[in-house]
Amino acid sequence: MYRYTSNASRVPAWRWLFALGVMLLISNAWAGGPSPLTWPADSAGHVALDGRYAVLVDGARALNSEAVLAGRHDAEFITASRRDTNFGFTHAEIWLRLAIAYQASHSAPPVLVIPRPLIDDVDLYAVDSAGVVSHAATGDNHPFSSRQVAYRGFAFLLDVKAGQTVTYYLRARSDTGPISLPLELVDSATFRADSASENYGRGAFVGFMVGLALCALTLFALVRNVAYAYYCQYLVAFVLLLCAADGYAMQFLWPNAPLAQQILPAALLALANVTGTLFARSFLNLPDVTPASEPWYALTSAASAVGMALHVFHHGALGASVIMTSTAVLGVVALWGCIQAWRDGDRIAGYLLFGWVAFLLGMSVTMLDMVGLIATSNWTSNGVYLGALGEFVALAVGLSERLWKLQQARETHIAAVNADLAALNANLEDMVKSRTRELEERNRELLELAVRDSLTGLYNHSTSIELLEQLLHQSQRYEFPIATVMLDIDNFKQLNDSYGHQLGDHVLEEVSQTLADSVRGADVVGRYGGEEFLIVMPHADALAAREYGERLLSRIREIHIGNNHISASIGISVFHPRGHRASAQDVIRRADEALYRSKREGRDRLTIDSLSLVSVTDGERRFEKPPPRS
Ligand code: GH3
Ligand code: MG
Ligand code: MG
Repeated sequence: MYRYTSNASRVPAWRWLFALGVMLLISNAWAGGPSPLTWPADSAGHVALDGRYAVLVDGARALNSEAVLAGRHDAEFITASRRDTNFGFTHAEIWLRLAIAYQASHSAPPVLVIPRPLIDDVDLYAVDSAGVVSHAATGDNHPFSSRQVAYRGFAFLLDVKAGQTVTYYLRARSDTGPISLPLELVDSATFRADSASENYGRGAFVGFMVGLALCALTLFALVRNVAYAYYCQYLVAFVLLLCAADGYAMQFLWPNAPLAQQILPAALLALANVTGTLFARSFLNLPDVTPASEPWYALTSAASAVGMALHVFHHGALGASVIMTSTAVLGVVALWGCIQAWRDGDRIAGYLLFGWVAFLLGMSVTMLDMVGLIATSNWTSNGVYLGALGEFVALAVGLSERLWKLQQARETHIAAVNADLAALNANLEDMVKSRTRELEERNRELLELAVRDSLTGLYNHSTSIELLEQLLHQSQRYEFPIATVMLDIDNFKQLNDSYGHQLGDHVLEEVSQTLADSVRGADVVGRYGGEEFLIVMPHADALAAREYGERLLSRIREIHIGNNHISASIGISVFHPRGHRASAQDVIRRADEALYRSKREGRDRLTIDSLSLVSVTDGERRFEKPPPRS
C-alpha cells in the first residue's frame, strides 16, 4: 500500500522559492531550467536525472499546451530533484521538461520510465531542433494495449535524433489517482532486463501470498475458526491492492478496463482495511481487550465504505481521501488494540505487532525512497513487498501457534474428560456393588422379618409350625423322637395390669432370651402367641424333655419383678414315629392339653402328655407309660 502525501500546500512554497530564486539571480533557474542531458550517457544503464529536469505546476490547468511547447513558459519551469516529484492527489496539471542532446546515431534508444502507474493521463511531447513536435499519450485512462511498451508503469521509447537536442515536455493529469513522477532514463537493454527481473520477483511474491491464502483457506475448512477466513480475505485484498497499486493488475487482470484501474486501487485499500480489521478483532478477541475502541472500528469501517462508494461514483480525490484517512485511523486503533492484547499477556499479539511493524517499516523505506530521501536500491524500492512478506509470514506463524495451542487445549480437555469418565465408571461399579450389598442385606432383613417375631426375635407362629412340620417329616423318615414343649407364663395378665404393658414386654423378652439360651442348636424356639411359647426338640425323648423342662422352669423363676418372681407352666408331648404319622396340629394339641393340666394343677409345673404317640394315618392310638413327675 502506498501513501501519497498531498503536495498541494507545497506549490505556493515552491512559487515563493522560485521568486526568491529569481531575486537571487540563480542563473539556472532564471534561464528556465537545467542544461541538456547528453546521450549516450557516460554511465551505462540508469542515468541519474536528479537536477536534470524542470517542473511547472499548472494549478488551474490553464496553460495552453502549444504555448508550453513553443517554449513560452520555459521561464516558469524550475529545476527539480527526485524528491520534488511527489504531488499526491492534485487537480493541477504537472509539466516536466527535460532536454537530451543526442550524440551519435548508432546509440541504443533510451527509455523514459515512470514506475508509478496510477496517473490518469500522461502525454509526452518531443520538440526537436527544427521545432517539429511529436506526441505520445498514455495513462491508466487508456487501455493497456495502447501502451508503446508493455510495462506495469508508463514507459516511452525515445527516438534518437543524432546531433540534435530534443526537448521533452511531459504533462501529467489525474483525477482519480495520485501523481508521482520519479522519472528514470534507462537504456532499452537495461530496461528490459530490469523489468523482467522485477516481474519474476513480483511473480514469486504473489505466488507466495496466494500459497499462504490457500493454506489459510484449508485451515478454515478444517478447523472452522473464522480468524483463518478473515486472514485469507485480508491476504487476497492486500495482494490485489499491491498489484493494483504497482500496475500489475492493470497489465494482467483488467488490461482493457481503464475504469477498473481508476476505481479499484482505492476500493481495494478500503477492502484490505476492513478485512484486516476483522481479522485482528477476531484473532486477538479485541472487542474484549479494548471494548472502548469498538465505536472507532464501526466508525472507520463505515467511513471506509462511504469513501469507497464516493470513490466509485464520483471518481474524485474525496473518496480516496476519506478511505486513506479512515485507513490511518483504523491502523492506529487496531495497533492500539494489538499492543493492549500483547500487554495483557497474549503472546500471539506479539506476532501481529511484529508483522505490522515489519510492514510499516518496509512501507516507510519505500516511501523515503520514493520521495528521494534515501538512496534507491533494490531493497528500498521493494521495501513494501518485503514488509508485506514479513507481515503475512508473522501472521501465519501466529495463526499456527494459536492452532497448535487450541489443539493442545483440546487434547488436554479430552484427556481430562476421559479421566473423569474412568473415575465415574469406577464410582459407578463401586456404587452398584454397595447397592447390591445393601439390597442383599435388606432382603435378609425382610426374610428375617417374615420368619421372626419382632418383639422377641424368636420364630413367629407360622414359622414355628412349619419347622415343626419339617422335623416331624424327618423324624418319620429317620425314626427319631421329637419332643414338643408348650410354655405359658403364669398370671401374665395380672402382671400387665400391675406393672404396665411395657414391663410385660420386657418380661417377654427376658423369658425369650432364657429359652433361646437353654436350647441346643438343632432345637426350634418360637413364640406361639401372646405369652405362649413353642419349643421343638428333635432326638429328645420324654426323659430328656422333662429334664429340659424342669431346667427351664427353674431358670424362669430366677426372673424377678420387684420382690416377686416369674413362673411358667409347661406341657410336653413326645412323638415316636415307629411307622406312625402325626401332624403338627396333633402334637401341639397334646402338648396344649398337658399344659392346661399344669395350669389346673396349680401352675409353675410341668406335665407330660399321657398319650405317648398320636397317629393320624390309621387312627390307631398307643398309650405310653407317662414319665415320672417332677
Ligand atoms: P394364666 O396363668 O392362666 O396363663 O393367666 P394369664 O393371665 O397369664 O392368661 P390370660 O390368657 O388370661 O392373659 C394373657 C395376657 O397376656 C393377656 C394379654 O394382655 C397379655 N399379653 C398377650 N400378648 C402380650 C404382649 O405382647 N405384651 C404384653 N405386655 N402382654 C401381652
Ligand atoms: Mg396364655
Ligand atoms: Mg399365662
